[in-house]
Amino acid sequence: MDERLSRILEKQHYHIVGSHSGVKLCHWLGEKLLRGRSCYKETFYGIRSHRCLQMSPAVNNCTQSCLFCWRYQGLSETGLDVEDDPESILEGAIEGQRRLVTGYKGDPRTTPEMWAEASEPNMVAISLAGEPTLYGQLGGFIDACNKRGMTTFLVTNGTEPEALERLDPLPTQLYVTLAAPNEEVYRRLCVPLVKDGWQRLIRTLELLPDLNTRTVIRHTLVDGWNIGWEKEYARLIETADPMFVEPKGYVFVGYSRERMRNSNMPAQETVRAFSDNLAKETGYEVLAEQGSSRVVLLGKDKRAMRIGDD
Ligand code: SF4
Repeated sequence: MDERLSRILEKQHYHIVGSHSGVKLCHWLGEKLLRGRSCYKETFYGIRSHRCLQMSPAVNNCTQSCLFCWRYQGLSETGLDVEDDPESILEGAIEGQRRLVTGYKGDPRTTPEMWAEASEPNMVAISLAGEPTLYGQLGGFIDACNKRGMTTFLVTNGTEPEALERLDPLPTQLYVTLAAPNEEVYRRLCVPLVKDGWQRLIRTLELLPDLNTRTVIRHTLVDGWNIGWEKEYARLIETADPMFVEPKGYVFVGYSRERMRNSNMPAQETVRAFSDNLAKETGYEVLAEQGSSRVVLLGKDKRAMRIGDD
């Protein structure tokens, strides 16, 4: 990895793994350990926030330059030249997580049991930064997670449908980010770096109903940019037929502060109003919401929310 880039990432408290992967503690891990507050993934799906490892196997590689992205985009690459092997990435990511959680050891606001659990992550959120499907051995990585009994959530921008078609095994839960209702908004807000980015995303949506796993459409909502157009979003949701839809407000953090304003963060009422309109258009129901993460969950069956209970 370029030395300048690793310095930038380390300054942002990333732990670099090998030549193209990275781990960073999620804000909610600390909140859970110190204040008992959990992330929406715990509320919605039963994922325990202090046992969640947030990582990416393509930390600097992406096919888009979204304006709302927290990632440093100055040295971005659209592909991976060299690939580290999946087991070593997972080993390195777990080691990195353990190193990063050391800071909480002995803090009187947490218990030794909770801290020990945080050092043994059982969930991998493959979503930190970059486009993970650019890593050609992603299936091997998910397989390595499965062998350790870890749940996996994968977030993709949908521009690599061929990679998803090949992906074996699939993650426990697959997210596709749909941050635009049409190509025009997509081009301006998600700034594709590949030809036919929008058409590739649509192909991913078409593929989704055939993938045998839990699927979610994530709408990253940016005030003044992509809120509204519920009828157009509904048509795209109909194509993808996901198990859940997660409208979630953009957060003004990291390098996105150089491209966005504080006012681009929608209030929870805005996220909720959009979600209510989307529910009417799609027939999905509002199943849950969490104001602290500015997120609403839409779905067809409340009983399917919890992982392991369905
Ligand atoms: S697709 Fe994800 S990682 Fe890539 S630029 Fe957009 S938000 Fe950032």
